[in-house]
Amino acid sequence: MNPGPGIDASHPSPVAEQLQRGFPWLRFEPTLEKTYRREHYELGLVQLRLNLLLALGLVLAFIAMDRLVTPATGVLVNVLRYGVIVPSLLACLGATWIPHGWRAYARAIAVLAPVALTAVAMLVLAAGEAGAPALFPALVLAALFAYYLVGLSFYAAVRTNLIALLAFVAGSSLADLPANLASYQAMTLFFANLVGATVAYNLEMARRTSWLESRLLAEMAERDGLTRTYNRRRLDGHLNRAWQQGIREQCPMALLMIDIDSFKSFNDRYGHQAGDEALKAVASVLAHAARRPLDFVGRYGGEEFLVVLYDTTKEYATELAQNILEGVRSLDIPHGASEVGNVLTVSVGVAYVVPMAGRSPDGFIQLADEALYAAKHGGRNRVHVMESEYAQLRTGSFRVANG
Ligand code: GH3
Ligand code: MG
Ligand code: MG
Repeated sequence: MNPGPGIDASHPSPVAEQLQRGFPWLRFEPTLEKTYRREHYELGLVQLRLNLLLALGLVLAFIAMDRLVTPATGVLVNVLRYGVIVPSLLACLGATWIPHGWRAYARAIAVLAPVALTAVAMLVLAAGEAGAPALFPALVLAALFAYYLVGLSFYAAVRTNLIALLAFVAGSSLADLPANLASYQAMTLFFANLVGATVAYNLEMARRTSWLESRLLAEMAERDGLTRTYNRRRLDGHLNRAWQQGIREQCPMALLMIDIDSFKSFNDRYGHQAGDEALKAVASVLAHAARRPLDFVGRYGGEEFLVVLYDTTKEYATELAQNILEGVRSLDIPHGASEVGNVLTVSVGVAYVVPMAGRSPDGFIQLADEALYAAKHGGRNRVHVMESEYAQLRTGSFRVANG
């Protein structure tokens, strides 16, 4: 049961803001960046393992194929193959099995990819010195692999390839190779990197955009369009889950039902748009008041909101309700047609219960509604708490309202 972060109606969502601001440097704001990296890693984990296995298969295939063009390549080549490249790939593959290991993998690949790629560069040079320059295309292939298939971010892939490119250029100037061949190979590798980096940039940009868009869509499906608090559908789902968990753990829960006082006459006096603005302002007071990670704020309907508190105390719930009351008053929104005063106010009904097996959350909502009714009846702009009444409450039998 994870209701997600508190919502603030006065700010658009961080996801929408990030989409609007753009991210030409391929970086989101820190919280979003962390979530993106983790999700991207976890969702692509099976594919990543397959890619690493493919890399391993290709390395072994090239080892076999290399015999066709160069029968004897010396000790160094074999050391690079079996002592560096294969173990690096195996270590990366192993790192993908670290539980919740997105950070561990990112660190491992950031070190092992440059090591393995530089080893391929050295291997190609050593084979070139031994009279087999035909191995060079394998280095281009490995460079592209580093860009797209081993889970490196754009920057890490560029860094990896730059290290290998510099090592190759330095190595080929020292190696005993024909000068024109060495510079042709170095330029080819450089151009392969230009193409590789350009495509990698565009790919990561598209991947990040689509991740933000799908998050935004998911957010829109569960939030109320006006107040940005959770909508009724999400509220019902959360309440049901929390209720079941409350039965299992015998955790006390509180439900705050908040209703704006004399809101009909507010609309009549100031117009519907002013009413909408007032609703947004009240919602942001609720979001600020309900700050604990498990606090859940949703729009129940019209000008009514619910706050769900899990594993709470009666004192905390009452204090929160009072804070909400004061928070709305201190918005200081003029309400000349109010029955209570001359600023906008709310009434809060609080139900405080330990969920009972065999009962649905309907009775919990009904008790909060009863408490709200009592707060309204008691003169509005106040909090009313009910708890012991729950034992006598008969779900489905509604009061006869006449006040
Ligand atoms: P009470 O103090 O007893 O709560 O009286 P009230 O006038 O607030 O209650 P009533 O149920 O009579 O009126 C609720 C009003 O809330 C009527 C409706 O126009 C208004 N309302 C509901 N949803 C919205 C909305 O999304 N925007 C605006 N502007 N008004 C809304
Ligand atoms: Mg109402
Ligand atoms: Mg009202």
